[in-house]
Amino acid sequence: MNYIQNPRDHFKSFIRDEVSRFITDQFSVSVLPKMKENIELLQQKIMKAAHESTQHVQENRGDAGLWLKSFTQQISDELIFSEKDLTGIKHDDVDDFNLLEEVIRHELPAIMFDSGSRFNTKTIDEKLDQFRPDEILTEHVCQCCWVQCPFCGVVCTNTIENHDGDHSVAFHRVRGINGHLYSGTTNLSVSICTSEVASNGSFCPNDSDDKVLYRDYRRAGGVYAEWSISPDLSELPYWKWFVCRFQKDLEKHYEKTFEGSGEIPDEWRKYSKQDAIESLDKYL
Ligand SMILES: [Zn+2]
Ligand SMILES: [Zn+2]
Repeated sequence: MNYIQNPRDHFKSFIRDEVSRFITDQFSVSVLPKMKENIELLQQKIMKAAHESTQHVQENRGDAGLWLKSFTQQISDELIFSEKDLTGIKHDDVDDFNLLEEVIRHELPAIMFDSGSRFNTKTIDEKLDQFRPDEILTEHVCQCCWVQCPFCGVVCTNTIENHDGDHSVAFHRVRGINGHLYSGTTNLSVSICTSEVASNGSFCPNDSDDKVLYRDYRRAGGVYAEWSISPDLSELPYWKWFVCRFQKDLEKHYEKTFEGSGEIPDEWRKYSKQDAIESLDKYL
C-alpha cells in the first residue's frame, strides 16, 4: 500500500533496506575486501605524500615546519585533516625532517591494520552516518518526476524532475487499487484511466458537483490539465491480475468492496501470476 500511495517514500525505504541487507549479507565477501582495498590505497597515498614532502623540503632547503605543511596539503584531499592535528609535534624537536617520513613508514602499517580489523557490520553502520550509500543511491535513482495520475495514482515515468511537457505513463492502473469508488456507491472501481478517457463517462473533479467528461478530462484544470492520457483499450494484464489476487486485501484496507458496478470481470481471473509478470516484461 505504501508503494501504491506514497511511491517515493516506498522507493526510499526499499533502497535503504536493500543496502542494509547487502552490508549484512555480503559483509565478508564484498564489503570488507573493498574496505581493506581502500585502506591499502590510502596507506600508499600517505606514504607517497610523506616521501614527496621530504623531497620538497630537500629541494627548498626547508625545515620540519615546511615538511608538515606540504604533507598536510597533499593528504587533505584524502583525509579530513589539517595542520592543527599535528600540534603535538613541536617543530624545534624535529631537527631532522627525514625522521618524520621514517616515523610514518614505521607506524602507519600497524595503525592501518588496526583500523581494518575494527570493521564489522555494527561499526560500519555507525561510521556511515555521514555518507550513507543508501542516501547517495536514493539521490541518484529517485531524481525523476514523482507526479501521480489524478485518477489512478500511477507515477509519471519521466526521468526528469520538473520536466517540460505533460506527465505520462505507458500503463495506468485499475483505479480501485487507489481506493477510487464509483460515485454514490461503496464499490471500488474496476476502471482503468486509458479506457475511461475513451468512454462517454464523466467524473466530478475534487469532489465538486461539476461533472466533466472523461474524454475532456483536461478541462478539469489543475493536475488534470498536466497529464497526457491517451485513450487505449489494450490494457496491461498485470493490474487486472493484481486486483484479483489482492481483492480481499484491498477490500479490507479500504473497507469497501468490488461489487455492483465494481464487479471484477470474469475474464480478468484467467490471468496467472506468470501472465502478469510476462506482460510487464513484454511491455516495459
Ligand atoms: Zn491513471
Ligand atoms: Zn511527470
